[in-house]
Amino acid sequence: MLNRIVVVGASAAGLTAVETLRAKGYEGELTLVGDERHPPYERPPLSKELLSEGWEPPSTWLRKEEVLAAVDAELRLGCRATGLDPAARTVALSTGERLPYDAAIIATGLRPRRLPCGDGLRGVHVLRSLDDAVRLREALAAGPRVAVIGAGFLGAEIAATARGAGLDVTLIDTNAQPLARQVGAEIGGLVAGLHRDHGVRLVLGADVVGMARDDAGVRGVLLADGTTVDAELVVVAIGSVPAVDWLAESGLPLGDGVLCDAYCRAAPGVWAAGDVANWPHPMVAGARVRLEQRTNAAQQAMAVAANLLAGEAGAKPYTPVPFGWTHQFGEKIQTIGWCPPDARTEIISGSTADREFVAAYHRDGVLVGGLGWNSARGLRQCRQLLGRPSSELAATAAGV
Ligand SMILES: Cc1cc2nc3c(=O)[nH]c(=O)nc-3n(C[C@H](O)[C@H](O)[C@H](O)COP(=O)(O)OP(=O)(O)OC[C@H]3O[C@@H](n4cnc5c(N)ncnc54)[C@H](O)[C@@H]3O)c2cc1C
Repeated sequence: MLNRIVVVGASAAGLTAVETLRAKGYEGELTLVGDERHPPYERPPLSKELLSEGWEPPSTWLRKEEVLAAVDAELRLGCRATGLDPAARTVALSTGERLPYDAAIIATGLRPRRLPCGDGLRGVHVLRSLDDAVRLREALAAGPRVAVIGAGFLGAEIAATARGAGLDVTLIDTNAQPLARQVGAEIGGLVAGLHRDHGVRLVLGADVVGMARDDAGVRGVLLADGTTVDAELVVVAIGSVPAVDWLAESGLPLGDGVLCDAYCRAAPGVWAAGDVANWPHPMVAGARVRLEQRTNAAQQAMAVAANLLAGEAGAKPYTPVPFGWTHQFGEKIQTIGWCPPDARTEIISGSTADREFVAAYHRDGVLVGGLGWNSARGLRQCRQLLGRPSSELAATAAGV
């Protein structure tokens, strides 16, 4: 019998799980535990509208207060889960309480990776939470020279936003191109061109070895080649790690996130959704995946809520087509499926010079992903052929 469900992590995945459980008719006790003091909020605007377009925190709230109240769940905000005992079926809280559950959903997302050389140094920032974003915005307002370490999606967005505000910005990465790990070097080269055209200084193929500092805080980023990137504000955007520290004693299978089965279940009565969940996906032959995408957080939470209520016989494997997006200097870049760096990329429509095109990603003769640059419609067409032999795409493009 399901009478008590506890969801840990009160953000996109956690809130969606709670709402879906109610929408599907679950009437038992429902508790949503979140360690942040804010109501559940959107993260994508934190590196975009909140930093540059004057959005205030309430604009990021996922639901209005009255909508949240209508979900009929006990909201335990500002309260950290400190442990989970799958045998006793309890979640321990920072308050000392133990919440009993019949089913638990883990939706604790990620924590930013930090650089030891910058930790605790004034002027060095990370960006994951609303509080981080508000701190960063205040610091940017002083007009510092900015160095962003890490040219993945987040770092490139922050660099674009800061440069868009007229600041002197340097984007630093160990790879030869921005976004190389996320979408490959070819498209990464186009992203580099975009940033250069807008006046971002790119320092690529560079290793950070330390921070220059004085009594006021950080003064620059020290590189392995002996040079220094001068900056009064440094953002460390070198990726994130799954927030599973609180589960260390739980005995749950942990690795790169909470290791789940194809139904997103980690143990009897324990499920995971969103950025923290790692599960086997049939489109990635024999491999496990963990997605850091807003769309997945909601979709996976819905799938978990449905599987949890459906019971053993009715549960379905979770097999989404990944979808992500980034906005930089007004350009809208979207991805579907997988865009691995070792895939062969092919421009199948539009033109890179016009910054309006669709790139297909082929691996082992199969179309595994697509990237649309200001081309949402073209990307939707590419989606239909994901997982099919690359030759079918060529035939479609030729009008056969
Ligand atoms: C700045 C930024 C910009 C982004 N932009 C985009 C974008 O443009 N496009 C896109 O597709 N995706 C984007 N993303 C990614 C997207 O926001 C995430 O995929 C999504 O937020 C994941 O939701 P989640 O609920 O799984 O995890 P999270 O949003 O990380 O939420 C997890 C919550 O659990 C809480 N928590 C952690 N541990 C505990 C604990 N022990 N007890 C209680 N609570 C705990 C956390 O504090 C957090 O509130 C962006 C992310 C960031 C940070």
